[in-house]
Amino acid sequence: MLNWEDPVATARQSATKPRPVVRELDVAPEYSVPQPNLSPALVDAPEHTVTGLEQVEFGAARITVDDKQMINCRADLNQLVPFKYKWAWQKYLNACANHWMPQEINMNADIALWKRPDGLSDDERLIIERNLGFFASADSLVANNLVLAVYRHITNPECRQYLLRQAFEEALHTHAYQYCIESLGLDEAEVFNMYREVPSVHDKAAWAMRFTQSLGDPTFHTGTPENDQRLLRDLIAFYVVFEGIFFYVGFVQVLSMGRRNKMTGCAEQFQYILRDESMHMNFGIDVINQIKIENPQLWTAEFQKEIVAMIREGIDLEVRYAIDTMPRGVLGLNARMFEEYLHFIANRRCAQIGLPEQYPGATNPFPWMSEVMDLKKEKNFFETRVTEYQTGGALTWD
Ligand code: FE
Repeated sequence: MLNWEDPVATARQSATKPRPVVRELDVAPEYSVPQPNLSPALVDAPEHTVTGLEQVEFGAARITVDDKQMINCRADLNQLVPFKYKWAWQKYLNACANHWMPQEINMNADIALWKRPDGLSDDERLIIERNLGFFASADSLVANNLVLAVYRHITNPECRQYLLRQAFEEALHTHAYQYCIESLGLDEAEVFNMYREVPSVHDKAAWAMRFTQSLGDPTFHTGTPENDQRLLRDLIAFYVVFEGIFFYVGFVQVLSMGRRNKMTGCAEQFQYILRDESMHMNFGIDVINQIKIENPQLWTAEFQKEIVAMIREGIDLEVRYAIDTMPRGVLGLNARMFEEYLHFIANRRCAQIGLPEQYPGATNPFPWMSEVMDLKKEKNFFETRVTEYQTGGALTWD
């Protein structure tokens, strides 16, 4: 019995308690746990997907690289090494090297410009408001999909390590939008409810929710061709369409303002977010392709057709979003240019996951976007980084 009044006595008591004698490691009843990885009957039972929260089996065989799998892995998920997917670990390291915080970015110029009655046109204000409205709830949606649905079903420790980092970055992004909204003094309720009240914002979020709902169901397990395809579909919906297509009209619009020296703080926030997001998307594409390699039976002609239709539907929604956020030409941009850009992006996304290009001949009207993504940390450090690191700290040390 534990004695909370006297923890030392409790510790002594448990140290002197005779431990069961283990004669043969694999038959010791005290330590034996069901081994789903060894039983062919259980291998076929999807309800026994390994999560990483199983009992720790004493004396179990050591994990080798060959035991590791992207989905439906039967091996212990708490052993990060040996690495099988070194690219996942490298992406985790790269993501950590990109660390930034929204408060490091100076918002003073944005606040002054936003408050000046003649500072921005109505069209420019609409761009800022709609994009903050979309992204403020969108990155939260991505984070929830990640930790409540995707994470459970990706059965590889090095990929989970990246997912944990990605989840933090999604939190940072939501924080960044909140920080912009607060700095500009926007109506928070209006901005955060845009995904319920503005059709073009709502439709993108509602589209994504369709894919994540079944995966978040605690009774859902991978392990059957149908369910494995469902996971793959969700991964493509979130990494390729949501983060890889639905974010890009907003990125171009806000970054275009920054290029014209308007709302430079918001643009800088978006620049850091874009750098993170392009890595999220590339990680997701690597995971998708690895699942395809390990489970070629999932990538049927019919499934590919379904995915192509899903991507095309995503493009149509994003074109509508471009028109809605930019009903007239502004900043040298117009909705037609966005349509061309989205077709160009869709071709790239399709090629990245091994699907045929859907919009032949589409070209990139915004070649400067690739330069923007190639952002150097030094810029932030020398030009705009804050020097007081403990401003948000809650601890006092006296
Ligand atoms: Fe993301």
